[in-house]
Amino acid sequence: MALIEAASPHTMNTYGRVPIALSHGQGSRVWDINGKPYLDALAGIAVNTLGHNHPKLVPALQDQIAKIIHSSNYYHVPNQEKLAAKLVEISGMTNAFFCSTGLEANEAAIKLARKFGHDKGIERPQIVVYEKAFHGRSIATLSATGNEKVQKGFGPLVEGFIRVPLNDIGALKAATEGNKDVVAVFFETIQGEGGINPMRIEYLQQVRLLCDQRGWLLMIDEVQCGMGRTGKWFAHQWAGIVPDVMPLAKGLGSGVPIGAVVAGPKAANIFQPGNHGTTFGGNPLAMRAGVETLRIMEEDRLLQNAAEVGGYLKDALTRELGSVKGFKEIRGQGLMIGMELDKPCGALVNRAAEAGLLISVTADTVVRLLPPLIFTRAEADECVGILAPLVKAILAE
Ligand SMILES: *Cc1c(COP(=O)(O)O)cnc(C)c1O
Repeated sequence: MALIEAASPHTMNTYGRVPIALSHGQGSRVWDINGKPYLDALAGIAVNTLGHNHPKLVPALQDQIAKIIHSSNYYHVPNQEKLAAKLVEISGMTNAFFCSTGLEANEAAIKLARKFGHDKGIERPQIVVYEKAFHGRSIATLSATGNEKVQKGFGPLVEGFIRVPLNDIGALKAATEGNKDVVAVFFETIQGEGGINPMRIEYLQQVRLLCDQRGWLLMIDEVQCGMGRTGKWFAHQWAGIVPDVMPLAKGLGSGVPIGAVVAGPKAANIFQPGNHGTTFGGNPLAMRAGVETLRIMEEDRLLQNAAEVGGYLKDALTRELGSVKGFKEIRGQGLMIGMELDKPCGALVNRAAEAGLLISVTADTVVRLLPPLIFTRAEADECVGILAPLVKAILAE
């Protein structure tokens, strides 16, 4: 057995890691460097949309790597326009900007909102953000994040954020009453790191209406809940609304680093040459990954699969665990599922890995499942078969 645990003396100590290293994968299955197999119910935190070694994606990426990996935004990158056109088609919005990560997409959204304000003569624009939100770990995005653990030690935080609770339109109105400096409302449709906390459909519709009435931008962070995971392209589409600004990343390139911010008519022309940019964003490899990922998702009907298998998995977990003492609630939609227990359950991550299943625990007490969108019913059964006894055991301790 290769020893992993204490094997990183030169790497910064930024992660509490599971003591395994993955060597390769096939579909929803991965193997570690000792040859042990695991069922992947995490997909690299909602990144490996198509699972591992997808037979349609891999040859396309090999072809791209052999042609050109990176060129520069000094030049046109044809697949930027192709991917932007596809994102526009599936979102009902108008233009996209490409970057490489989720926090970068959110930084771009925050900059858009601030310039939207400045263009209207608002000198100190303010953005409404939410309790338990997660938007990334840059200084601006950690300031927008609603988690003291993420913020502690990194002050002074960036100003210009007003924080409100989820799903409470009265609280949103009260917190912004008479405030002429508000420019945007910014949230995740289903909070990921915060514990799989969904915004209610009617709340989404109420906020859309309020943003229209007040002239604010509605900015929806779909970095984790987007890209087909809930059974629609974007989770807010269940409410029949369209945002003004939508940051994307994680699943968009099925493993290749990629981010995007998609904008509707109110926000599409705010940035002018010189206002924003990035070296890696939109490079030929990432764009090919995005174009092919979306094409394969459509060809293989993965939105339908996410809805079907996700519903099946949630039902099976509810049947097995719903009435167990200490099991509080199951939340989420499609292949984005959280199970809240009445106690911290971080120990489940290693125990599940030992038993051959990759999962995560977030917000201390929430078991989180984010399988690849190719997950099958048989794999859902296998996942429940491994996970349910572990959850019962930890609840009984
Ligand atoms: C992961 C995540 C981010 C940050 O993305 P990075 O690529 O890690 O910077 C932002 N918002 C949400 C909702 C996320 O889940």
